[in-house]
Amino acid sequence: MREAGRINAEALAAARAVIRPGATTGDLNAAAEEVLRKHGCYSPFKGYPGPYPYPASTNVSVNHELVHGIPGKRKLKEGDIVSVDCGCVYEEFVGDAAFTAGVGEISKEAQRLIDTTEGALYAGIEKMVAGNHLGDVSHAIQEYSEGRGYFVTREYTGHGVGRRMHEGPMAPNFGTVGKGIVLKVGMTIALEPMLLVGTEETYVLPDQWTVSSADGSLTAHYEHTIAVTENGPLILTTQGDGSIPRRNSEEKV
Ligand code: MG
Ligand code: MG
Repeated sequence: MREAGRINAEALAAARAVIRPGATTGDLNAAAEEVLRKHGCYSPFKGYPGPYPYPASTNVSVNHELVHGIPGKRKLKEGDIVSVDCGCVYEEFVGDAAFTAGVGEISKEAQRLIDTTEGALYAGIEKMVAGNHLGDVSHAIQEYSEGRGYFVTREYTGHGVGRRMHEGPMAPNFGTVGKGIVLKVGMTIALEPMLLVGTEETYVLPDQWTVSSADGSLTAHYEHTIAVTENGPLILTTQGDGSIPRRNSEEKV
């Protein structure tokens, strides 16, 4: 899973590197897909069952699109924010991760949303300690997000991940301290805060996959696959050492 996560991080970095005004959402998908292919991997997103089989290796979701955006010919514009979610299957094990980034210069409000969503992810990861309840993790994400004035979706959640992308347990972005399963060493869970500026309500666009905020307000999404270890949480979907990074943006948020 560590190797799946490392390759997934490389794929996301490749997608991030092509983000600029004029790039298409399909360009981001192609960059990520190329990395997966180079390593002999593939994305579990492709063909994922739904209203029709999911047609791409990544989700690329722009502005009000929260998750599950289908990459294609849409051109990114200066000031947009774009979320990229990618999965990687390496020797039958899965990594799943996502980030949101600005296109060119973005508003302070958009940057604060992005920073808060990333911060909420790390607030949750910090609680991924053996003996904690999953509710402690969910609550930390909720408190961090709502405490800064944002909404978290109730309809889409993080999840266990292993030989399949979506395994139990569900890991919601809201919850109660002391509730839910007790975390044990060896568990691997994808945490994925999905934040919205104006509402927690969402709806699915006519393409039957893309999830949008109900009011058209901005949204952001971050995700890592985490292992619970004897030494605390280990981030698997990274090219780094798996520790929680120190973030300079923390004070600004
Ligand atoms: Mg994902
Ligand atoms: Mg996921």
